[in-house]
Amino acid sequence: MLEYPIQRVPAPGETIEVAEGVFWLRMPLPMSLDHINLYLLEGQTGWTVVDTGIRGAETSALWQTIFDHCLDGKPIDQIICTHMHPDHTGQAGFISEHFRAPLLMSYGEYYQARMMNYSMQEKGSWHMSDFFLRGGISQALMDAMSEARSNFAPEPDDLPMPRSYKRLKDGDQITIGKTTWDIIVGSGHSPEHVCLYSRAQRLLLSGDQILPIITSNVSVHPTEPEADPMTEWLASHEKFRALIPEETLILPAHNEPFYGVGERLDELTAHHEHRMDIVLEGCSQPTVAIDLLPALFERKLENHTLFMALGEAIAHIHCLMNRGQVSRALDGQVYRYTTR
Ligand SMILES: [Zn+2]
Repeated sequence: MLEYPIQRVPAPGETIEVAEGVFWLRMPLPMSLDHINLYLLEGQTGWTVVDTGIRGAETSALWQTIFDHCLDGKPIDQIICTHMHPDHTGQAGFISEHFRAPLLMSYGEYYQARMMNYSMQEKGSWHMSDFFLRGGISQALMDAMSEARSNFAPEPDDLPMPRSYKRLKDGDQITIGKTTWDIIVGSGHSPEHVCLYSRAQRLLLSGDQILPIITSNVSVHPTEPEADPMTEWLASHEKFRALIPEETLILPAHNEPFYGVGERLDELTAHHEHRMDIVLEGCSQPTVAIDLLPALFERKLENHTLFMALGEAIAHIHCLMNRGQVSRALDGQVYRYTTR
């Protein structure tokens, strides 16, 4: 059983000290996953914030409350975003402008976050429709979705991602206050996801790389239709299992801080291996990806969730293709997958 040692969650605009110099706060998200956890690390002269919340006035107003009441009169002097996703990077521009604070990210995540500001405003392309049609989406649904605008697309008032950044690499160390943090990069949920690990304090700021309760989205996207993020995701689990001792407090981006990293990684690996078993069974005859979804997902899938589920199913299929267990053939406009 995972253990959740902290009995309450921070209210909006409040911080809770979860370890010496490490403060937990929450920001709202407009989705069924209704919050993100952010962390403030206290330094000598200022604070480091880890992840920033989603764009928009509601979160910036909460940040203003934090600035006014929770920082002991010290500025935020650097911003770390674990990865590019909009709930992690949405307020980086706002905080960076407010304090003239530098942004620290990995190379791949920074450039993809800057690209996303533009690409979310794009309409669909043939690359996108080919990818989804091959997975079994109907032409009519594809046409409808190509017209839809992303919920996450920036509004004119949103401050863009900072125009420069400082690169974080796997194996780097950064010292904040009395604590030295190792940078550990994982992959699969996003390509170069940064985690911060303090050996001395036995803490891991895990972002979306290791979450309790929910499983991080691991998907193939039309921008890289041949990607195999699931193999990288499972390899990252092994990497973290080897590096992070069991007595480490995991500070995740969603849900509550917990103990039990090895157990959680085992559960997550088993969850994906189970899904791959379902794919192998489902592909005993040549099968289109979309027809695997009812066996893989219990919930009802429509519109965005259907597209996301399809990307996840294809991630499992690609892992099996790389293991040599599934083959693929183009049949008209769809791919059919067969267990070997
Ligand atoms: Zn994420």
